[in-house]
Amino acid sequence: MTIKITLIPGDGIGPEISEAACKVLEAAKVPIDWETHIAGQTAFDKIGNPLPEKTLESIQKNKIALKGPLKTPTIEGFKSINLAFRKHFDLYVNLRPTKSFEGVPTRYNNIDLVVVRENTEELYSGIERYTSPNKESAETVSVVTKKGSERIIRWAFDYAIRNKRKKVTLVHKANILKATSGLFLEAGRRIAPEYPNIEFDEKIIDNMCMQLVINPHQFDVIVSTNLFGDILSDLTSGLVGGLGLAPSANMGHKVAIFESVHGIAPDIAGRGIANPSALLLSACLMLNYLQMEKAAQKIKTALLKTFKEGKVLTPDLKGNASTLQFTDAVIKNL
Ligand code: ATP
Repeated sequence: MTIKITLIPGDGIGPEISEAACKVLEAAKVPIDWETHIAGQTAFDKIGNPLPEKTLESIQKNKIALKGPLKTPTIEGFKSINLAFRKHFDLYVNLRPTKSFEGVPTRYNNIDLVVVRENTEELYSGIERYTSPNKESAETVSVVTKKGSERIIRWAFDYAIRNKRKKVTLVHKANILKATSGLFLEAGRRIAPEYPNIEFDEKIIDNMCMQLVINPHQFDVIVSTNLFGDILSDLTSGLVGGLGLAPSANMGHKVAIFESVHGIAPDIAGRGIANPSALLLSACLMLNYLQMEKAAQKIKTALLKTFKEGKVLTPDLKGNASTLQFTDAVIKNL
């Protein structure tokens, strides 16, 4: 059976890495019928709207999308296009797994961490303004709710159980942000006893960053609010080889959007040298979500083999291959 999936190629390096990911999925004979739609800067330039109704309708209908990174056009009323998608479909879970790849040289081996980032609240609530006419002061409102905190923390514990993980570390700054971060921490302390087989640990964000650099192996599942989760997942991607290798899944109760952790990478866009692995690994998360684990594993194995061989790698991994050459090497290893 062919599955209809919405594809948003995206801005910057988006079209290059999307083409690569689709090519690998096709070569792996995954039965997908892509419905391609635009958003972000590309859509703004084409039709004057960065969040076209047709794109939203396609995702609503298919319930699943693979999305390249998007640039938010600098126009009144649009704060973040990525955030708009997350809010529109209430994609409250942002799952960002980080695993070492044999053959990719990094400071540590055997890293296997998962960041579960709350995806709709806190400093990403979209309430921000200048508080003086000449932009000399500004404020952003951080909104954290009991419901929002409880559902993401519960999701992190349930994920730990489903994936036979042992520990959940909640990251906060409740010593300073007593109301918002305090509310999140209290939710964690209330929920943790419901999961007696999972160890619960809490860390203040600044200490957490240091601990992740000194001894990342002490962590397993990490759950945090929106901004801390965003920063932590860039940090954890650095532990295994960088943003070119970091996938993510945005999930709600009805819809899921899979995308790489990285942005549009304007510094390398259009040069054909972007690493498509992050988006390809996001597509593997998508296949797992669709219970097509065999196909996901086949693609992952080919990707890992390509890293291990170390002959055809993109510049971010100290190689000199183009996106297309790397993609062809992965396909050869399927
Ligand atoms: P955003 O805030 O939108 O997440 P960002 O500020 O984190 O974006 P990115 O666009 O993710 O910035 O790029 C950060 C750095 O990582 C850049 O130097 C970019 O070239 C590099 N980078 C990101 N993605 C890739 C990739 N797929 N392949 C190679 N390099 C990448």
